[in-house]
Amino acid sequence: MRAIGIFGGTFDPVHLGHIQIVLEAKKYLGLDEIRLLPCHQPPHRDAPQLSSEQRMHLLKLATEGVEGLVVDDRELSRNKPSWTVETLEDLRSEYGTDVSITLLMGADAFSGLTHWHRWQELPDLAHIAVMQRPDYTLPETGILSEWLASTVDVGEGSLTAQATEIRQIHQLAAGVVIAIDQPEIDLSATYIRQQLANGIRPNGLAPAVLEYIETHQLYGFSCKGTTFR
Ligand code: ATP
Repeated sequence: MRAIGIFGGTFDPVHLGHIQIVLEAKKYLGLDEIRLLPCHQPPHRDAPQLSSEQRMHLLKLATEGVEGLVVDDRELSRNKPSWTVETLEDLRSEYGTDVSITLLMGADAFSGLTHWHRWQELPDLAHIAVMQRPDYTLPETGILSEWLASTVDVGEGSLTAQATEIRQIHQLAAGVVIAIDQPEIDLSATYIRQQLANGIRPNGLAPAVLEYIETHQLYGFSCKGTTFR
C-alpha cells in the first residue's frame, strides 16, 4: 500500500527542525512521501507574522531539491480556520481508502490534541505519528496515552510492538498511533523570530530561507547593527 505522511504547521518560518524531523519520520516509518501543509489561519494560536503566501514561499525554498518532501497548498485556498480533520477528509476524497496516510506532529501538538476540532475522528482518517520535542513529554494518563499505549511501553516487547505498528502503517489506511523515538531537535519558530527581531542571524534556517528573510527584512530583521555569528 502506498504510504504518505502529512505534516501541517504555521511554518512562521519553516526551520531546519521541521525538515529534520519529517525526514527522520519518513525513514523510520518507510513513508513514500511527506506532504507539508502550511495552514492559512491557525485555529489554536495568534495570527502568523508572515502572510500565507510568504510562509508558503519559504517552505518551497526550504524543501527545494529535498527528495520525498512535497509542499501542499490546499489549506491556503480555504478562507477559514485550518481544521486538520477537514484537511484529512479532503485528502481521503482525493486518495481514496487504498492509501495509508500518517499525520505527523511534535509532542507539543499531540499533547493538545483533545482541543482540536473533531479530534476523536482523526484516527479514523489517518495514522498518527508523534515526534519527540525538548521540554515536552508524551501524555502519561488519559485517552491520548491510551492511544499510544501499545507503542510507548519501554519494557520488554516495546521494540516488537513498534515493528508491528510500522508494519500496520503499510497494511492499513488509518488507525495506528505511534511515538517515534528520534533525536530531539531544540529549535522553534518562536526562537528564530526572536533572534531575527534582535538583529541576530539565527542558526537553524535553510540558507535560501535566511537569504530571503534578510533581503526582505522580514520579522523585523535589519542588517543595521546586526550581530554576526
Ligand atoms: P512556534 O514556535 O511559532 O510555535 P514551531 O517551531 O512549533 O512554531 P509550527 O509550525 O508551529 O512550528 O509546528 C508545526 C509542527 O512541527 C508541530 O506539529 C510541531 O509540534 C512540530 N515541531 C516544530 N518544531 C519541532 C521540533 N523542534 N521538534 C519536534 N517537533 C517540532
